[in-house]
Amino acid sequence: MKGIDGEALKYSGQRRKMVDDQLASRGIRDPRILEAMNRIPRHLFVHESLQHRAYGDHPLPIGESQTISHPYTVAAMTEALALKGKEKVLEIGTGSGYQTAVLAEMAGQVFTIERIRSISLKAQRILDRLGYMKIVFKVFDGTYGWPDQAPFDAILIAASSPSVPENLVAQLGEGGRLVIPVADNGGGQKLVRVIRECGTVRQEDIGDCKFGPLLGKYGWAEPLPPG
Ligand code: SAH
Repeated sequence: MKGIDGEALKYSGQRRKMVDDQLASRGIRDPRILEAMNRIPRHLFVHESLQHRAYGDHPLPIGESQTISHPYTVAAMTEALALKGKEKVLEIGTGSGYQTAVLAEMAGQVFTIERIRSISLKAQRILDRLGYMKIVFKVFDGTYGWPDQAPFDAILIAASSPSVPENLVAQLGEGGRLVIPVADNGGGQKLVRVIRECGTVRQEDIGDCKFGPLLGKYGWAEPLPPG
Protein backbone atom coordinates (compact mmCIF):
# COMPACT_ATOMS: atom_id res chain seq x y z
CA MET A 1 0.00 0.00 0.00
CA LYS A 2 1.81 3.10 -1.21
CA GLY A 3 -0.58 5.86 -2.27
CA ILE A 4 -1.58 6.64 1.29
CA ASP A 5 -3.26 10.00 1.84
CA GLY A 6 -4.62 11.93 4.80
CA GLU A 7 -8.00 10.16 4.72
CA ALA A 8 -6.28 6.79 4.98
CA LEU A 9 -4.54 7.77 8.20
CA LYS A 10 -7.79 8.41 10.09
CA TYR A 11 -9.21 5.98 12.68
CA SER A 12 -5.78 4.60 13.63
CA GLY A 13 -6.87 4.12 17.27
CA GLN A 14 -9.97 2.16 16.27
CA ARG A 15 -7.91 0.09 13.84
CA ARG A 16 -5.42 -0.90 16.54
CA LYS A 17 -8.29 -1.78 18.87
CA MET A 18 -9.91 -3.94 16.16
CA VAL A 19 -6.66 -5.86 15.74
CA ASP A 20 -6.16 -6.34 19.50
CA ASP A 21 -9.74 -7.04 20.60
CA GLN A 22 -11.21 -8.85 17.59
CA LEU A 23 -8.24 -10.62 16.02
CA ALA A 24 -5.25 -11.21 18.32
CA SER A 25 -7.36 -11.99 21.38
CA ARG A 26 -9.50 -14.45 19.37
CA GLY A 27 -6.57 -16.48 18.17
CA ILE A 28 -5.29 -14.91 14.94
CA ARG A 29 -1.54 -15.54 15.29
CA ASP A 30 0.16 -14.60 12.00
CA PRO A 31 1.89 -11.26 12.70
CA ARG A 32 1.80 -10.35 9.00
CA ILE A 33 -2.01 -10.52 9.03
CA LEU A 34 -2.22 -8.44 12.19
CA GLU A 35 0.16 -5.86 10.71
CA ALA A 36 -1.68 -5.75 7.37
CA MET A 37 -5.05 -5.23 9.05
CA ASN A 38 -3.53 -2.57 11.29
CA ARG A 39 -2.32 -0.75 8.17
CA ILE A 40 -5.20 -1.04 5.70
CA PRO A 41 -7.76 1.80 6.05
CA ARG A 42 -10.87 -0.40 6.22
CA HIS A 43 -13.10 2.70 6.53
CA LEU A 44 -12.30 3.67 2.92
CA PHE A 45 -13.92 0.43 1.69
CA VAL A 46 -17.39 1.47 2.91
CA HIS A 47 -19.68 4.42 2.15
CA GLU A 48 -18.78 7.68 3.87
CA SER A 49 -21.89 7.52 6.06
CA LEU A 50 -20.73 4.16 7.52
CA GLN A 51 -17.03 4.93 7.97
CA HIS A 52 -17.34 5.52 11.71
CA ARG A 53 -18.61 1.90 12.06
CA ALA A 54 -15.99 0.30 9.81
CA TYR A 55 -13.88 -1.08 12.67
CA GLY A 56 -16.77 -2.66 14.59
CA ASP A 57 -17.19 -6.38 15.12
CA HIS A 58 -19.70 -6.86 12.27
CA PRO A 59 -20.15 -6.88 8.49
CA LEU A 60 -21.54 -3.72 6.84
CA PRO A 61 -23.57 -3.12 3.67
CA ILE A 62 -21.63 -2.11 0.51
CA GLY A 63 -24.59 -1.77 -1.90
CA GLU A 64 -26.32 -4.25 -4.25
CA SER A 65 -27.37 -6.25 -1.13
CA GLN A 66 -23.74 -7.28 -0.53
CA THR A 67 -21.59 -6.78 2.58
CA ILE A 68 -17.97 -6.21 3.56
CA SER A 69 -17.00 -9.25 5.66
CA HIS A 70 -16.56 -9.17 9.42
CA PRO A 71 -12.89 -8.29 10.30
CA TYR A 72 -12.40 -11.62 12.12
CA THR A 73 -13.71 -13.59 9.13
CA VAL A 74 -11.28 -11.84 6.78
CA ALA A 75 -8.39 -12.62 9.13
CA ALA A 76 -9.40 -16.24 9.73
CA MET A 77 -9.84 -17.02 6.02
CA THR A 78 -6.51 -15.39 5.22
CA GLU A 79 -4.76 -17.31 8.00
CA ALA A 80 -6.19 -20.58 6.67
CA LEU A 81 -4.33 -19.95 3.39
CA ALA A 82 -0.95 -19.82 5.24
CA LEU A 83 0.52 -17.21 2.87
CA LYS A 84 4.25 -16.50 3.04
CA GLY A 85 4.61 -13.63 0.54
CA LYS A 86 5.21 -14.93 -2.99
CA GLU A 87 2.01 -16.80 -3.75
CA LYS A 88 -0.30 -16.42 -6.71
CA VAL A 89 -3.80 -16.11 -5.25
CA LEU A 90 -7.30 -16.26 -6.73
CA GLU A 91 -10.16 -14.51 -4.91
CA ILE A 92 -13.77 -15.09 -5.92
CA GLY A 93 -16.18 -12.36 -4.76
CA THR A 94 -14.18 -9.10 -4.72
CA GLY A 95 -16.94 -7.30 -2.80
CA SER A 96 -15.61 -4.08 -1.23
CA GLY A 97 -12.01 -5.03 -2.08
CA TYR A 98 -10.97 -5.08 1.58
CA GLN A 99 -10.13 -8.79 1.63
CA THR A 100 -8.37 -8.26 -1.72
CA ALA A 101 -6.13 -5.64 -0.07
CA VAL A 102 -5.29 -8.02 2.78
CA LEU A 103 -4.38 -10.74 0.26
CA ALA A 104 -2.27 -8.28 -1.77
CA GLU A 105 -0.32 -7.41 1.40
CA MET A 106 0.27 -11.09 2.11
CA ALA A 107 1.02 -12.62 -1.30
CA GLY A 108 2.81 -12.02 -4.59
CA GLN A 109 -0.09 -11.52 -6.97
CA VAL A 110 -3.89 -11.50 -6.60
CA PHE A 111 -6.46 -12.29 -9.29
CA THR A 112 -9.96 -11.30 -8.16
CA ILE A 113 -13.34 -11.94 -9.78
CA GLU A 114 -16.67 -10.22 -8.98
CA ARG A 115 -19.96 -10.85 -10.78
CA ILE A 116 -21.48 -7.38 -10.14
CA ARG A 117 -19.77 -4.73 -12.27
CA SER A 118 -20.61 -1.68 -10.09
CA ILE A 119 -19.19 -3.45 -7.01
CA SER A 120 -15.99 -4.40 -8.83
CA LEU A 121 -15.49 -0.86 -10.17
CA LYS A 122 -15.87 0.62 -6.68
CA ALA A 123 -13.28 -1.83 -5.33
CA GLN A 124 -10.92 -1.05 -8.23
CA ARG A 125 -11.15 2.67 -7.51
CA ILE A 126 -10.16 2.41 -3.87
CA LEU A 127 -7.45 -0.20 -4.44
CA ASP A 128 -5.94 1.98 -7.19
CA ARG A 129 -6.06 5.01 -4.93
CA LEU A 130 -4.22 3.07 -2.23
CA GLY A 131 -1.54 2.14 -4.78
CA TYR A 132 -2.00 -1.63 -5.03
CA MET A 133 -0.28 -2.71 -8.23
CA LYS A 134 -0.41 -6.50 -8.05
CA ILE A 135 -4.17 -7.02 -8.28
CA VAL A 136 -5.85 -8.10 -11.54
CA PHE A 137 -9.64 -7.67 -11.70
CA LYS A 138 -12.30 -9.45 -13.72
CA VAL A 139 -16.08 -9.06 -13.85
CA PHE A 140 -17.47 -12.52 -14.51
CA ASP A 141 -18.98 -15.61 -12.91
CA GLY A 142 -16.10 -16.57 -10.62
CA THR A 143 -17.28 -20.16 -10.21
CA TYR A 144 -15.38 -20.88 -13.44
CA GLY A 145 -12.20 -19.79 -11.67
CA TRP A 146 -9.48 -18.31 -13.90
CA PRO A 147 -8.22 -21.29 -15.95
CA ASP A 148 -5.77 -19.19 -18.02
CA GLN A 149 -3.91 -18.20 -14.86
CA ALA A 150 -4.05 -21.56 -13.04
CA PRO A 151 -2.43 -23.15 -11.12
CA PHE A 152 -2.88 -21.01 -8.00
CA ASP A 153 -1.10 -21.42 -4.67
CA ALA A 154 -4.24 -20.30 -2.85
CA ILE A 155 -7.92 -19.72 -3.66
CA LEU A 156 -10.32 -17.78 -1.40
CA ILE A 157 -14.04 -17.89 -2.12
CA ALA A 158 -15.96 -15.16 -0.29
CA ALA A 159 -19.48 -16.48 -0.92
CA SER A 160 -21.23 -19.64 0.20
CA SER A 161 -21.57 -22.64 -2.09
CA PRO A 162 -23.75 -25.80 -1.99
CA SER A 163 -20.53 -27.88 -2.17
CA VAL A 164 -16.82 -27.50 -2.91
CA PRO A 165 -16.63 -26.83 -6.68
CA GLU A 166 -14.32 -29.51 -8.13
CA ASN A 167 -13.31 -27.30 -11.05
CA LEU A 168 -11.83 -24.79 -8.58
CA VAL A 169 -9.93 -27.49 -6.67
CA ALA A 170 -8.50 -28.51 -10.07
CA GLN A 171 -7.02 -24.98 -10.42
CA LEU A 172 -4.90 -25.44 -7.26
CA GLY A 173 -1.22 -26.23 -7.69
CA GLU A 174 0.70 -28.83 -5.67
CA GLY A 175 0.54 -27.83 -1.99
CA GLY A 176 -2.22 -25.34 -2.81
CA ARG A 177 -4.90 -24.31 -0.29
CA LEU A 178 -8.51 -23.29 -0.92
CA VAL A 179 -11.00 -21.85 1.60
CA ILE A 180 -14.73 -21.73 0.96
CA PRO A 181 -17.94 -21.39 2.98
CA VAL A 182 -20.13 -24.44 2.29
CA ALA A 183 -23.79 -24.84 3.23
CA ASP A 184 -24.42 -27.63 5.77
CA ASN A 185 -27.61 -29.65 6.14
CA GLY A 186 -28.95 -27.66 9.06
CA GLY A 187 -29.22 -24.35 7.18
CA GLY A 188 -25.88 -23.07 8.51
CA GLN A 189 -22.50 -22.83 6.84
CA LYS A 190 -19.07 -24.32 7.50
CA LEU A 191 -15.79 -22.80 6.48
CA VAL A 192 -13.98 -25.58 4.63
CA ARG A 193 -10.28 -25.74 3.79
CA VAL A 194 -9.07 -27.95 0.95
CA ILE A 195 -5.37 -28.83 0.59
CA ARG A 196 -3.98 -30.45 -2.54
CA GLU A 197 -0.90 -32.50 -1.72
CA CYS A 198 1.01 -35.33 -3.41
CA GLY A 199 -1.85 -36.12 -5.75
CA THR A 200 -4.46 -36.24 -2.99
CA VAL A 201 -7.02 -33.72 -1.84
CA ARG A 202 -7.63 -33.29 1.88
CA GLN A 203 -10.67 -31.42 3.19
CA GLU A 204 -11.31 -30.12 6.73
CA ASP A 205 -13.93 -27.99 8.51
CA ILE A 206 -12.32 -25.00 10.19
CA GLY A 207 -15.30 -23.20 11.73
CA ASP A 208 -18.78 -21.76 11.29
CA CYS A 209 -19.46 -18.75 9.11
CA LYS A 210 -22.20 -16.76 7.42
CA PHE A 211 -21.82 -15.56 3.83
CA GLY A 212 -24.10 -14.53 1.00
CA PRO A 213 -24.60 -17.02 -1.84
CA LEU A 214 -22.05 -17.89 -4.54
CA LEU A 215 -24.28 -17.45 -7.60
CA GLY A 216 -23.24 -19.05 -10.87
CA LYS A 217 -22.57 -22.10 -12.96
CA TYR A 218 -20.80 -24.15 -10.23
CA GLY A 219 -22.49 -22.47 -7.25
CA TRP A 220 -26.19 -21.76 -6.64
CA ALA A 221 -28.41 -21.14 -9.66
CA GLU A 222 -28.70 -17.45 -10.52
CA PRO A 223 -32.07 -15.94 -9.59
CA LEU A 224 -34.46 -15.67 -12.52
CA PRO A 225 -34.93 -12.16 -13.89
CA PRO A 226 -38.25 -10.56 -12.81
CA GLY A 227 -41.27 -11.30 -15.02
N1 SAH B 1 -14.73 -10.35 1.30
C1 SAH B 1 -15.52 -9.29 0.71
C2 SAH B 1 -16.99 -9.62 0.78
C3 SAH B 1 -17.45 -10.38 -0.34
S1 SAH B 1 -19.21 -10.46 -0.37
C4 SAH B 1 -15.34 -8.02 1.49
O1 SAH B 1 -14.83 -8.09 2.60
O2 SAH B 1 -15.75 -6.97 1.01
C5 SAH B 1 -19.36 -11.65 -1.61
C6 SAH B 1 -19.22 -11.12 -3.01
O3 SAH B 1 -19.25 -12.26 -3.86
C7 SAH B 1 -20.35 -10.22 -3.46
O4 SAH B 1 -19.85 -8.99 -3.91
C8 SAH B 1 -21.01 -11.02 -4.59
O5 SAH B 1 -21.50 -10.19 -5.64
C9 SAH B 1 -19.88 -11.88 -5.06
N2 SAH B 1 -20.24 -13.09 -5.79
C10 SAH B 1 -21.25 -13.96 -5.56
N3 SAH B 1 -21.23 -14.95 -6.47
C11 SAH B 1 -20.17 -14.71 -7.30
C12 SAH B 1 -19.62 -15.37 -8.45
N4 SAH B 1 -20.14 -16.49 -8.96
N5 SAH B 1 -18.53 -14.82 -9.02
C13 SAH B 1 -17.96 -13.68 -8.54
N6 SAH B 1 -18.45 -13.01 -7.47
C14 SAH B 1 -19.53 -13.53 -6.86
